[in-house]
Amino acid sequence: EEDAALLAGGFEEADENAPLKLDPVLAIVGRPNVGKSTLVNRILGRREAVVEDTPGVTRDRVSYSATWNGRNFTLVDTGGWEHDAKGIHARVADQAEIAADLADAVLFVVDSNVGATATDEAVVRMLRRKKKPVILVANKVDDMVQEADAYSLWSLGFGQPYPVSALHGRGTADMLDAVMDVLPEHSAYGGIIPTGGPRRVALLGRPNVGKSSLLNKLAGSERVVVDPLAGTTRDPVDELIELGGRTWRFVDTAGIRRRVHLQQGADFYASLRTQAALDKAEVAVVLLAVDEVLSEQDVRILQLAIDSGRALVLAFNKWDLLDDERRRYLEREIEQDLAHVEWAPRVNLSARTGWHKDKLVPALDKALESWDKRIPTGRLNAFLGELVAAHPHPVRGGKQPRILFGTQASSRPPKFVLFASGFLEAGYRRFIIRRLRETFGFEGTPIEISVRVRE
Ligand code: GDP
Ligand code: GDP
Repeated sequence: EEDAALLAGGFEEADENAPLKLDPVLAIVGRPNVGKSTLVNRILGRREAVVEDTPGVTRDRVSYSATWNGRNFTLVDTGGWEHDAKGIHARVADQAEIAADLADAVLFVVDSNVGATATDEAVVRMLRRKKKPVILVANKVDDMVQEADAYSLWSLGFGQPYPVSALHGRGTADMLDAVMDVLPEHSAYGGIIPTGGPRRVALLGRPNVGKSSLLNKLAGSERVVVDPLAGTTRDPVDELIELGGRTWRFVDTAGIRRRVHLQQGADFYASLRTQAALDKAEVAVVLLAVDEVLSEQDVRILQLAIDSGRALVLAFNKWDLLDDERRRYLEREIEQDLAHVEWAPRVNLSARTGWHKDKLVPALDKALESWDKRIPTGRLNAFLGELVAAHPHPVRGGKQPRILFGTQASSRPPKFVLFASGFLEAGYRRFIIRRLRETFGFEGTPIEISVRVRE
């Protein structure tokens, strides 16, 4: 009953902190040279092949914000994922599969001048299994005469093919209308966290660790602006705070400043608020107080942050209260209880005195940089090749699973997909993650690896 009352009481809050709804995701898949990147540029309304963003990274970038008829969606392009000549059927299908898993709908592009090839058929079989809406695009239909070719693609079983010329723009409006008919309003598959705007920070921690004190110190007395985040409907709850010469968005600070320290069910309430803030954030700062031992609640909040897939910084507050004895204990705690987040940057500070508050920005930058990072497919496979040669998977039951190929399916956080000839043990996967961190430096971000077994 108490819980029910708390729920009712906390409802206003839960509502206000409604999770950020992410745009639906459309993946473009198809063989090399069918015109995927031309189509991406056509949809985005620009001429030039792929964008600025990270210098040196051109076609390995995968997602873009797009708009059609006033509706926003995220476009995922698999064109940048490298292929090699050998085993190309499997590769194209594998990559299409990775993209399809992220997406709410799939734009499957076929070259109508060539017709459906064996590789296309392999993609078709994979897409059937996914049971996601597929819009079939017959590209390179530059004029009416060529439209006849497109209709032979009915045989692929995805209904009407949309004849399109990505190069000239012919037919793309009808195609996009069809896409809009199948895309949901918001992504049902987690969506892709949008870039742009001030970076979004969730300041987390159990009651009394010093969240509002730190917020006050960071914001100063005057420089506080409050405004709502696009995609949330309710009252303004975020604060824009200038740190290190840039603006940062601290999400859900209303909840922090209101300082609701409920007696009963405080844990539950904290989890609710923590989860809501994480949904909106790109990076979490989990605040711990060094004058007290790590509590169950601290651990739970930290776990929520880890599980959210956001970038992570650990901040040890109340450093001014640290004595020698406590310091020794703290070191042990870090070694034992925080070993699973040794990858997160740590900042020691005092919200009361402001000591080390300037250390927060470099840690946030580092964590976000790792969170955003993409390893080009070529480099990743060179790394995997060396790693597997030096440390092959142990033989199990007379068999030795081999890693055939890997790709970074997405960033924010980095997710890797490995194709292997057999099941990879958890220990071996952890080993790969450790080596990925050592080699590429993913400080401050969780990393995911999934394995697809292929006979
Ligand atoms: P991707 O590998 O699937 O990304 O293919 P690209 O977008 O790089 O296109 C491969 C080639 O096909 C390029 O030379 C494009 O100019 C050409 N291409 C793309 N779309 C069309 C089209 O609609 N009509 C014609 N004629 N050529 C196209
Ligand atoms: P919140 O519940 O996480 O927002 O925590 P508050 O900011 O309200 O802080 C709880 C208590 O800890 C208050 O009495 C603060 O003055 C105190 N406090 C916060 N930060 C520090 C610090 O760095 N050093 C010391 N000594 N006390 C602090």
